[in-house]
This record gives sequence, C-alpha cells and structure tokens, in this order.
Amino acid sequence: MAAPRVESISSRAIVGEGPHWDEKEQALYTVDIRGSQVRKYCPSTKKETFVQIEGATVSFVVPLKDQKGKFILGLGRSFAILTWDGVSNTPSHIEWIATVDDEDEEKAGNRLNDGKADPSGRLWAGTMGPINGPLSSIPPTASLFSLSKERKVTVHLTSIAVGNGLTWSLDHKVMYYIDSVTDKIDAFDFDVHHGKIFNRRTVFDFATNQVKGHPDGMTIDTEGMLWIACFEGNQIIRINPESGKRLKTIPIPAFKVTSLAFGGANLDELYVTTASVGMSKTELEAMPGSGCIFRVTGTGAKGFAGQAAVLEEGVRDL
Ligand code: ZN
Repeated sequence: MAAPRVESISSRAIVGEGPHWDEKEQALYTVDIRGSQVRKYCPSTKKETFVQIEGATVSFVVPLKDQKGKFILGLGRSFAILTWDGVSNTPSHIEWIATVDDEDEEKAGNRLNDGKADPSGRLWAGTMGPINGPLSSIPPTASLFSLSKERKVTVHLTSIAVGNGLTWSLDHKVMYYIDSVTDKIDAFDFDVHHGKIFNRRTVFDFATNQVKGHPDGMTIDTEGMLWIACFEGNQIIRINPESGKRLKTIPIPAFKVTSLAFGGANLDELYVTTASVGMSKTELEAMPGSGCIFRVTGTGAKGFAGQAAVLEEGVRDL
C-alpha cells in the first residue's frame, strides 16, 4: 500500500484540539483552546469559519443531538452551551451549565480539557492542572467528570494531572482513557446505562514501547484499534488494545500533535489537530505546519462520525 498522504488544511491555531466530525453537516469542528475559538471546516467548500469566545479557554466542542446550531463547550472550568450559526465570529448565546473543580483553592488554576460524548450521548471531560514547565511538572489536582442528560455532574476519578483522550470500544463495554502525564493508555469496564467505570488497567505504555512524545487525543477505528496523537512526538500511532502492540506510525509535520478524529464522506480520513504554543520563531520556521489541522488519507482504516451529546432543555434542578 502507498504511504498515507498528510496535508495541512487550515490556518494556524495556538492550541488546536478536539476534532469532531459532524456527519449531518459533513463538517469538522475543532477548538483553539488558548485562542478561545470554536472552528468549523467544510471539506466540500474548503471554507474555515470561527467564533471567538471571550474570557475563557475553549477545550472541546460537541454538537447537541437534534439541536442544530447548539454545542456543549468546556469553557475554563465550566460546561456551557454555545448557540452559533457556524458563520458569525461572535456567539448568539452562551448558557452556563455547571462549574467543576471549584471546591478548593489548589484547583483554582485548573481548567477543563478533552471532552467527548459516550455512545449514549453522556458527556465526559477531564480537567488539568496549570502548566508552568514540562508536562511532568503538572500537579495531580484534576479530575474526570461526566455530565448526564439531566445536567448532573459526577466525579469519576480524582488526583489526575491531565485528563485527555477518551474513546469507547465497539461493543460499548470498555472506555479508553489517557492521563498524558502517566504516558499510558488505560481501559475501564464501562457501564453505558449508568455511566460508571470499573477495573482500571493499562493497555499500552509509551515508555515501555519507546514511543516518542506523550499520549494526548485518541479515537477508535472500525476494527477496534486505537489511534493516538503523540504530543511533542511529531506523529500519530495505531495500537491494538488487546495485544498491546503498536501497529502503525505516521509522521505529522508538527511537533505538538494534540488529537485526531475520523471524518470525510466515507469516514476514512483522519483529521489531526496540532499546537504551536510555546514554540520559538526558529522552531516555527522549521515546522511551519505547527498549529494547523492535517488531513491524513490512505491509512486503510475507517472510523466513526463524532457522537453528539444529549442534554435536556430547561433549567437545572438545584
Ligand atoms: Zn488533549
């Protein structure tokens, strides 16, 4: 098979993240966490639009099921609903839902990070501690949360450092999860009906497998294999979570590869986000694609469209 083709399809973000393929719209949504933007890219027109959110980091964007133009966002330490027409640079409306990590001082510097809806539409998202140096120096003050369709927040894990990649097995019985600082891909038994996780174990370790970089965003393909973005590793990898073997490595011309999602009309294209944050002028000149979104074709793999979140309308019952 010919080598996969990797092409840049966007302008540069500070921290591009959270790719979500919207099947109905045939469009890719991403965020720029530090740039506080939600971005939309339509492959058919090659057009890129964005909405600017003031005053908070934007860590993920997940469309709400059957509510066109509405999205759940991670804004700073809060979950919020954005109403956006996909064109305007300013939001029509932002509704704040719930704030996490607000119970004690040592979590004041935390923010929400990667978030995704599980196969039932329940939203899952982790927080992360403040970065003041290398990834390994981030304190373990963060947690992993879910947000039910009744808007109830549940804490599932505490004392984590960087809540990142989330995906679910084809039979919905396993949840895969990454805390980037551990350099491991972990799995839990997953109860999709009650939104519970049990029996944590490691399925792949970057250190023992000598993989360059740290695991960040993650997705699953139709064969149940995991694709992982390697932050500070210039690459994405495909692994078998059953055997713990690395199956494929694809170089990406950006140092900080943050996340990836399948998309395109046949769900056989990988959209890969990257970051440019903290890179010097010389480093950016050497890797001008840093911060751009890349489309990878010819991998031989197919995946799934993004899962929309289910959230009931109305006022939260306090
Ligand atoms: Zn991430």
